[in-house]
Order: sequence, then C-alpha cells, then structure tokens
Amino acid sequence: MTDSSGKIPSRREITDLIKARYVLLYVISHEEERALNLIRDIATKEVRHRRKVFTWSVTEGIQGEDGESMPDHRDPMRALDFAVKLEEHAIFVLKDFHPFMKDPGLVRKLRDIHRAFSEGRTIRHIVLLSGIFKMPPELEKEVAVIDFDLPDRQELDGIVENAIHSLPPNTPLALREDADLRDRVVEAALGLTAEEAKNVFAKSLVRSKDFDFDVILSEKKNIIRKSGLLEFFESRYEMTDIGGLLPLKAWLSKRQKAFSKKARDFGLPLPKGILLIGIPGCGKSLTAKAVGSLWRMPLLRLDVGKVFGSLVGSSEENIRKVIRTAEAVAPSILWLDELEKGFAGVQSSGETDSGTTARVFASFITWLQEKDSPVFVIATANDVSALPPELLRKGRFDEIFFVDLPNAKERSDIVRIHLGRKNRNPDDFDIEAITQATQNFSGSEVEQGIVSALYDAFDEDIEVTSEHIEHSCREIIPLAFTMKEKIDKMREWSKARARMASTPAEEVEAEDTPLEM
Ligand code: ATP
Repeated sequence: MTDSSGKIPSRREITDLIKARYVLLYVISHEEERALNLIRDIATKEVRHRRKVFTWSVTEGIQGEDGESMPDHRDPMRALDFAVKLEEHAIFVLKDFHPFMKDPGLVRKLRDIHRAFSEGRTIRHIVLLSGIFKMPPELEKEVAVIDFDLPDRQELDGIVENAIHSLPPNTPLALREDADLRDRVVEAALGLTAEEAKNVFAKSLVRSKDFDFDVILSEKKNIIRKSGLLEFFESRYEMTDIGGLLPLKAWLSKRQKAFSKKARDFGLPLPKGILLIGIPGCGKSLTAKAVGSLWRMPLLRLDVGKVFGSLVGSSEENIRKVIRTAEAVAPSILWLDELEKGFAGVQSSGETDSGTTARVFASFITWLQEKDSPVFVIATANDVSALPPELLRKGRFDEIFFVDLPNAKERSDIVRIHLGRKNRNPDDFDIEAITQATQNFSGSEVEQGIVSALYDAFDEDIEVTSEHIEHSCREIIPLAFTMKEKIDKMREWSKARARMASTPAEEVEAEDTPLEM
C-alpha cells in the first residue's frame, strides 16, 4: 500500500519489519517523540505478540513502560547486555546511538545481537532512532533503514483539530464552515514536521485569529528556506512568458494532467523528470519556473552546490532531507539548478573527499531511477562536459532537451514578450529590425538590449523607440561570440543525445546567419 505521494508510509514499513521479526532497524528522524509514539502504537496494536517498549539514552539510561527506570544503564554496552538478557518480547529504542557506533566493541555487539535475536524464541528488536544517519559498513547488511515520513494529510488534520480544541469553545473560525479551506490549510502545512506545523498554526491563530492559508504558506516557505538547501519558489511566470521553445513547451503541456489518478488508471507512467542542457540565458530556468504555474504544483529549487557545502551539514544528510521534503509536498517539482556545480567532482571523489560526492550522487541516481513518488525533477545545466556520464544514461530522465540560441522567429517572440513586460505595445515597434539587430543573442541578451534602451530613452526624457533598441543591441557582444567553441561542442554533443527544445531554425526560416566568426 502506498500513500498519496506513492511512497510506502513509514507506519506500514515499520509494522512489516517488526512483523517479519527484523532485529535491527534504523529510523532516521528528528521527530523523536512522534517516531516513538508510532513504535509504541505498533508494538501494542499491530502485532500478534505484543512487544514491550524500552527506550535508552545516554542521559537517562533505560526506561521501560509504566515508569520503569534504570538510570544506572547509561553505559551503552550495559544497555545492550540488558537487552540480551531480557526474556520478553520487546523493542529497544536506542536514542541517538550513532556516535557510539564508532566503538568497534559496540558494533561487534550489535552484530552478535543480530545473530542471537534472529535465532531466539523471544522476539526482540533494536531500533536505532536518530536524526542523523551514520552506519558503520560492518552493519550495512544487517540493518533495515527507514527514513521516517513527515506528517501526512491525516496527521496534519489531527494537529489542526487539536489546535481548534485548544481555543475557547465557539471561537469563530472560517474553516468550521468551509471544508475546502480546511483541506487547503492542511495542504499548506505539508512538508513540515509535526512541531513546526503546530507552531505555524499557533502563529496564524495569534496573528489572524484564524487559520490563515497565506500565513501558513509563507511560514512554510520560511521554514523550508531556513534548511538552507531548498527554496519554495512562488513563480510569477507563465508559459506565455517564454518565447519559442515550442517542442519543449508542448512536451510539458502534454504532461499537465499526467499526475492525476485518471492518468494512472489510463496506464500512463508517472513522469520522472527532464534535463535541460544548453547555452546560458536561453530560458532553462525560466521554463522551470513556468512549469510550476502550468501544472499548479509547488516548485522547490535546490541549489545543488549547497548540498556539498559544509556549512549546511553533511551532504548525505542533505540529499535525504531534500528528497523527503519534496516527497512530503508531492505532487511537486524539484528544480535542480546548475546541476554541474554539485556533481562535477564525482569521478575524482575517491581522492578528494573520501567518496562523499560519489556516494551522494549514487543515492540520488538511484532515487531518480526508482522513485515512484510524484516528484518531477527539472535539472538545468550549462556545461554538459562537467556532468557525470551515468547521469545522462537512459532511464534517469524522461528526456534530455538541448536549449540552443533562439532563432529569428523565437527572438521576435522574445522581443514582443519583453516589450509587453515593460508595458509597451509591441505593435508600436519595428520587430523585424530589432530581431535582425539581435542575431546570435540569447533570450537574456535580448532582454538586456531592451532594458538598456529604456535607460537611454529615460535619460533623454523621451519614449523608447525601435532605434533605441537596435542601437543598444549593437553595443552588446553576445556570449555566442566569446563562447563559440564551447557552444559548437555542446551542439555537436546534443545532436546524437538530446532532443531540441526549439524547432530547428531552417524549419522556421533560413534568415539567420550561422555563427561564423
Ligand atoms: P542560466 O543557466 O545562465 O541561468 P538560463 O537558460 O537558465 O541560463 P534564464 O534564467 O531562463 O536562462 O534566462 C534569463 C532571463 O532571460 C529570463 O529571466 C528571461 O527574462 C530572459 N529569457 C531567456 N530566454 C527567454 C525566452 N526564451 N523567452 C523569454 N525570455 C527569455
């Protein structure tokens, strides 16, 4: 059974493992109490042979049920000995045990326990519960790892209910009458921990005297941003803000309803993601931003370089967190910006960072290939030569698109779009002349030409004209000249491996001169 995001919920996963008598489990979560409550619930309700739950921490020693306390068992080896000697069905939850797994004696002890508990008549499990995942290689085969879910809709709805109960009775609340608003409030909190959701609801009740959808959403954005890795992107862009790139837009548009139940019933696979490779400033990021609005799905931007930045924690932990958040708010779009910045060092990872980049990359690739959650990945990159070849293999992405310089027809569209964005009527301008003046320009350079003309006209205290724009465009040296060699290489590469994001120039008109410099 999967939840709405397509992933097996942690409750199901842990229950199955306990029922299957797995001895060693590692539950990764910062939400200790929530995870513990779930384990207690499973131990009493979900299994035929009820298990007694013991917890251990280095500060409190062993705590049993009904206030049983053994503070003299703080020493981890003693605690494990206690588990070995106990002759009752039980689950031992070891809180923050990860720092102790540096001790070869304790690692060995866990391996012994694995063997002994697997054979014994009493059913005993050890659950390592920690927000940080650290696993000595010796234990990799013995331990089942569970990335504990963030609260789902049902759980968040329960938190809303508790928040309502904490208010004086009869407090007027819009969502009492509006079930739709209640759904939207719950949806806005997806991606938060239970504690964060509680705080966000409390803040909204203080500030707006109600569950204010906008306050909740903006708080969520702040919390996600504070993680330092993801940005919850509110897109102001629509597909109509993109000039050209018709095949790419058509591909995306065709998949607009592909995340619905109807699409699943029809037999369509879930779209995985696309990789946009190409020349800087030609609309890759713009497309990522516009897809969020087209599909009406939350867009999470990941700065791939930061995953490896030591300032925001360990890289392995970071990529887990990102995937977990994207899955919690699914269906969602995960935009990996400047992909090459993160994964450039994969090949040399063994020598430079004791394999961290390679490991993170491998776990990311596995997720990309095997994910069954509706998280659509849009990866953008300027430099294909910096990307590890494994990333470009079939099956990773649904499609790799090459985004080239815009052809004449596309440039004229881009000129029109940017004039429109600057509150000018494109029909008042000589679009053909401007298109001519922007040969070999990227979309971003076309925009730059128009902005610079606006400055000139403003300075002269007159309205901007086509001549201003043509003039300012002539002053710009396009990147296509300075990057000619690199662009040629990318075009060559893309011929056999990527799909064109634009209609080829010759099919539109043969008026552009090729890049000959
Ligand atoms: P980079 O890799 O350098 O970020 P990019 O391909 O992602 O390049 P964008 O950020 O999408 O480039 O483009 C920069 C700006 O240029 C956009 O915000 C937009 O204003 C303008 N632009 C680029 N391409 C287009 C286009 N096809 N249509 C309209 N505007 C465009």
